[in-house]
Amino acid sequence: MDRRTFLGLTAASLIHAPSIVQARQPKHVTVIGAGSAGMSAAFHLEKAGIKVTILEASNRWGGRVKRLAGFSDVPLDLGAEWIHDEPTVLGEIVGAGQTDLGVETIDYSPQTFKFWHKGKLNNFNSLRHVYEEVKFLDTTWYGFFERFVIPSIENKIEYNAVVSDVQSEGDGVSVHLSDGRKIETDKVIITVPLSTLQRGNIAFSDDLLPPNISELQNVDFGRGFKVFMRFKERFYPDILLEGSRWSVMQDTWSSKIFYDAAFGKPTQQNILGLFTVSDRHLPRANLSHSEMIEDVLSEITKIFGSVVRDAYIDGRVQNWSQEPHIMGSYSMSNHSDLDVTEILAPVEGRVFFAGEVLGGDAQSTVHGAAFSAIKCVDQIKDS
Ligand SMILES: Cc1cc2nc3c(=O)[nH]c(=O)nc-3n(C[C@H](O)[C@H](O)[C@H](O)COP(=O)(O)OP(=O)(O)OC[C@H]3O[C@@H](n4cnc5c(N)ncnc54)[C@H](O)[C@@H]3O)c2cc1C
Repeated sequence: MDRRTFLGLTAASLIHAPSIVQARQPKHVTVIGAGSAGMSAAFHLEKAGIKVTILEASNRWGGRVKRLAGFSDVPLDLGAEWIHDEPTVLGEIVGAGQTDLGVETIDYSPQTFKFWHKGKLNNFNSLRHVYEEVKFLDTTWYGFFERFVIPSIENKIEYNAVVSDVQSEGDGVSVHLSDGRKIETDKVIITVPLSTLQRGNIAFSDDLLPPNISELQNVDFGRGFKVFMRFKERFYPDILLEGSRWSVMQDTWSSKIFYDAAFGKPTQQNILGLFTVSDRHLPRANLSHSEMIEDVLSEITKIFGSVVRDAYIDGRVQNWSQEPHIMGSYSMSNHSDLDVTEILAPVEGRVFFAGEVLGGDAQSTVHGAAFSAIKCVDQIKDS
């Protein structure tokens, strides 16, 4: 090899070197949605030294993680509330393994269960031997992200940024917003709720369209709402269920549970929660907040009598079925022949999907959403 050829080769490799580096480590990743998955994706990208922008359609972070502040002397979760696994998932979400982050949790083990069935209130306290979960003591899922995740990513979030299109742009992607803005990026992680994808609210260029995306129509996305009410005195059990013991204990995604939301919490206040989710129509989901509270008060008055109205102080509603950009509770049954991970597999190494629907065994949970996002970040780092 003469010197000229050698210099030519060196020049060529120098010219091409940056693009090789670029392919291995993207310069910039755009995350769509700032819920549990989006926040976790951004947190881990940032930690890996990858520049990130988060585009969030609403004016707040959290998605289905939302805090009710100023209503009681303990913060309450308007969305996700329980830790549906060991508390060690908290450390895993922030990449600290099973480290104890010092977040106090409680064993949520209700002791008193009542069933309202055919006009009668029946005890079924033996359920206390079989039902146990974990909750936060004096914080919430919102408080967890606020403390451990948000400080690293807060200045990367753009609010009121409704993504409408994801298009191929050279080797990368251009993300189009409904206000006409366009963001060029190397890769995207899409963490919007299943409902957004099912409604076709985000369009894709042909080469970036997941080939089986129409199969998402076969995955149920539930409706749901929560109500919190404060009372001067406590007249309700730890858990109140409607229907026969048998019907309630059947394995079903639909749930309607009245529960003592102050259970195990550092408060003397009496706070009754109502959690309702279903894959079927929920008549109450179309009511205004005041109508919904009135309707719930009427229902429990039939069960407990006049003490309900006498003791009522105040109430709040979070109607997830009407929350813009979410429009429901969480994913439920999959009637497609395909697994959701097959339907939403990465496209062209440029478009990745995360969110609760991709949570696998932990589908429909906060930690499932977060873990699916961490998986995307790992795939991006390894690509
Ligand atoms: C009533 C209720 C109770 C629950 N209880 C629990 C519980 O106790 N424990 C538990 O672990 N889980 C619970 N869950 C489930 C849990 O809240 C979710 O699984 C999880 O929070 C979903 O996170 P995500 O990031 O996948 O989606 P989301 O939190 O929905 O985040 C998606 C984000 O994308 C944004 N977005 C949508 N469209 C666009 C667009 N076009 N452009 C830009 N941004 C967009 C949305 O505004 C949203 O902020 C509950 C959920 C509900 C509704």
